[in-house]
Amino acid sequence: MSVLPIAVLGSPVLRQETVPVTVVTDELRALADEMFETMRAASGIGLAAPQVGRTERLCVVEVAGQSYTLFNPEIIAREGKLRWEEGCLSIPEVFGWVNRAAWVKVRALDRDGEPVEVEGTELLGVCLQHEIDHLHGRLFIDHLSFLKRRQALAAWEDEKGKYPDLLRILKPGDTDAPRTAHASEGQL
Ligand code: ZN
Repeated sequence: MSVLPIAVLGSPVLRQETVPVTVVTDELRALADEMFETMRAASGIGLAAPQVGRTERLCVVEVAGQSYTLFNPEIIAREGKLRWEEGCLSIPEVFGWVNRAAWVKVRALDRDGEPVEVEGTELLGVCLQHEIDHLHGRLFIDHLSFLKRRQALAAWEDEKGKYPDLLRILKPGDTDAPRTAHASEGQL
């Protein structure tokens, strides 16, 4: 297992539509394991395949000690509204308030290829919506108003020089020290 480089904003792979997984193979389970390791190395709570340069429709989520490996996840029900301050492992140090559904029900295949449903509110619900967005080339900044989006992109201009190849390289145990509550809670 190894920690994978994370594609950052500007990398075309983040804007690609993913391809549904037809069979959950050992190779895909190994990819999911590496995505968990990468996510944890970055102190994240969710990670989608495009963020590690892949096009499989796969994301991993870990909220409140509960881990989810989700192939082909789709939202099949949603209710209510909330606003949440989100960040993204692919847009380090940039945060924004996003309107999301307050509750979602997601259908997916688990790591054994078995159908599974996951319901989430608050942090889990937001994380599921954020990761499923990634699988369709959408980023949280796309949900911001024109002005807030412009502010976020300006903040990113100050950050992106740290990632000359549009890749964020992490090492095992080399965790980002979360500087704010949201950096520990909202890195998706
Ligand atoms: Zn993200």
